[in-house]
Amino acid sequence: MNQNAITIALAGNPNAGKTTIFNNITGTRQKVGNWPGVTVEKKEGRVHKFGYDLKIIDLPGIYSLTPFSIEEIVARDYILDQCPDVVIDIIDASNLERSLYLATQLRELGRSKVLFALNMSDVATARGYKIDADKLSELLDVPVHATVGNKNQGVEDLLQKAIELAVSDTAPSRHRKVRYSNDIEAAISELETLLTPHMEHESPYDPRWASVKLLENDKVVVDRLPTVLPTDALDALMSKTASQRQTLQARYDEDPEIVLTDERYGFIAGIMKEVFSTSSRRRIDTSRNIDRVLTNRFIGFPIFIFFIWAMFQLTFTLGAYPMDWIESGVGGLAALIDYALPDSLVKDLFINGILAGVGSVIVFLPNILILFFCIALFEDTGYMSRCAFLMDKIMHLIGLHGKSFIPMLMGFGCNVPAVMAARTLESEKDRLLTILITPFMSCSAKLPVYIVLAGTFFGARAGTVIFAIYLLGIVIAIVSGRLFRTTLLRGADAPFVMELPPYRVPMLKSLLIHMWDRSKMFLKKMGGVILVGSIIIWALSAFPRTTTFTHDYPAAMAHIEAAYAEKTARADAEDQPALEKEKSERLLEVQRAMRAEQTANSFMGQIGQGIAPVFAPLGIDWRGGVSLLAGFVAKEIVVSTMGVLHAVDEEGSEALREALLKSGMTPLAAFSMMIFVLLYVPCIATVATIRKETNSTKWMLFSVGYTTAVAWVMAFVVYNGGRLIGLA
Ligand code: GDP
Ligand code: MG
Repeated sequence: MNQNAITIALAGNPNAGKTTIFNNITGTRQKVGNWPGVTVEKKEGRVHKFGYDLKIIDLPGIYSLTPFSIEEIVARDYILDQCPDVVIDIIDASNLERSLYLATQLRELGRSKVLFALNMSDVATARGYKIDADKLSELLDVPVHATVGNKNQGVEDLLQKAIELAVSDTAPSRHRKVRYSNDIEAAISELETLLTPHMEHESPYDPRWASVKLLENDKVVVDRLPTVLPTDALDALMSKTASQRQTLQARYDEDPEIVLTDERYGFIAGIMKEVFSTSSRRRIDTSRNIDRVLTNRFIGFPIFIFFIWAMFQLTFTLGAYPMDWIESGVGGLAALIDYALPDSLVKDLFINGILAGVGSVIVFLPNILILFFCIALFEDTGYMSRCAFLMDKIMHLIGLHGKSFIPMLMGFGCNVPAVMAARTLESEKDRLLTILITPFMSCSAKLPVYIVLAGTFFGARAGTVIFAIYLLGIVIAIVSGRLFRTTLLRGADAPFVMELPPYRVPMLKSLLIHMWDRSKMFLKKMGGVILVGSIIIWALSAFPRTTTFTHDYPAAMAHIEAAYAEKTARADAEDQPALEKEKSERLLEVQRAMRAEQTANSFMGQIGQGIAPVFAPLGIDWRGGVSLLAGFVAKEIVVSTMGVLHAVDEEGSEALREALLKSGMTPLAAFSMMIFVLLYVPCIATVATIRKETNSTKWMLFSVGYTTAVAWVMAFVVYNGGRLIGLA
């Protein structure tokens, strides 16, 4: 073990500035992953400073150490089991009273040495708050240091203090803990006496703390004690606990955990009286004033809709420019490869497999960057919490609260980050429910499919039809939400206080980091999956190679070449370009026919014939079926696969429209296919994310099955219903 190694954990309320301070300390030397077994993000960084090897851990943001949420359990278990040398509690000085709830609990834990950072001290000062840091330090017997995280003020000193504390040989101090009323203290010491003999060595628990937790019936502690205590001691302890809980219950006419919580708040109120004062000429809280407008009952909602509209507007209009550049870049690269390589399978793989697939994803990068920038802006200014607040009532229709709205909103952009965003929900059930209904929010990759189908079959009414599709997705999400809430995921939504953190002017750097963090994940996931998927689809449509065609295509092409060579020789100079164009068009036609035959005979074609009966009742032919199947890789691929199967080159082009009209598809069938695309299994990247975020293959399969079943039934009902009432 390295003599100079020190582990420092950062704890604190959400938004207290942990990550900011973590970034200040570790810079870029970070490792981001998940805590083992759960989907709570773990950030770890290592630096060498002041002659020590420091390992810094950014613990999940929590308000207390009760095991009510995964975050709380993760943070608490980490402190108990890993016993970091120092825990720095990042206190939000502008919210001192609330922060102290966690601070006192950390102090009670009694294992690690604790240090308080009074962060956001600039905000506190601006609001006219005065905090007596020395007094606070004295009362809780913990060193206290003021910081301004976003300006990197005091962070270096904080770190130095933490190191001093870590290397000093004073044990974590044992007195001046929260003191409870006499009855409770008596109960605590009774249990403590029973526990102490068994808790000397390997146990992670401080006996007093464990006793308090037993009185509170803390499920994690109760579950783990059997591994620490011998059976007879355990039995004695548990029966003692039960009788003590009963006594307290009778005396206070309240669950002991509630009494203990009340007493902690009482203790905190006492501390507040001693250390906190606010100047009489306190500046009017600007946040509250802004909130008067933005969360106003009447104008709050229109403003919110406007912001969302502006976000999508910005995403698509501003994003269109770089999208064009990337498109022409990809096109140029394809042309270059076409020119550089001789005709071969490898060239075909590069152009029609890899470049077509990956290229179709890369073009969405600008949109995604802009979308995530806007979302980071909403988050960092504090507006996102107001959105959640505004949507709360509506979301209750589904049995969810406003916070679930954020993932669903992001779903319109891309389901991958949307499913990830569900992490912010406290309750496991809420999180699951949100993840299950988010895929019904029509993601941006499905839009090209609607544009092609609605544009072809509905002409001027295309816009309305697409709007109806989006609306249908929302309705299905609401209905599914209600359904799950009353069956699989029964239970009331977890009670929770809607946080309204103060508005802040965002820092560009932090906006960019947030934006890039998310986009990077997107690129990595989509990039890998898309690459593999594109190659598979390409291979399925390229093999087996057709060797005997029904027509002699090469001969037909040679014939065209010869015919035009003759015509060109005879024509006038000014007619040459027109002839040249005519020639290449006719050649293309033959090539397309040849490619179509190849595809129809390929594995893909065979699969298409195999699955045709599944899609026939929905009015979708085998080509549509194969395209939908390919869409599992990414929804963009639906359009390009249709292009391949109808043997046209550019996707979304006039040629595809003509081919679709000729294929015998009716408007009703097109509508049915759009519904299917809207509702059926999300893309493979989303499915993988669902697996990761729910940590359960079962729920992943459920999501896949449910969405696809709903899609089939809805398309079936619409298609056959439409035919019954005489729509074609
Ligand atoms: P976490 O949830 O605890 O990780 O909080 P973050 O580190 O993400 O910080 C939340 C927001 O507070 C960010 O926008 C920071 O830039 C901002 N912030 C952090 N520390 C301070 C501070 O001392 N003063 C002010 N005014 N803002 C801060
Ligand atoms: Mg954070």
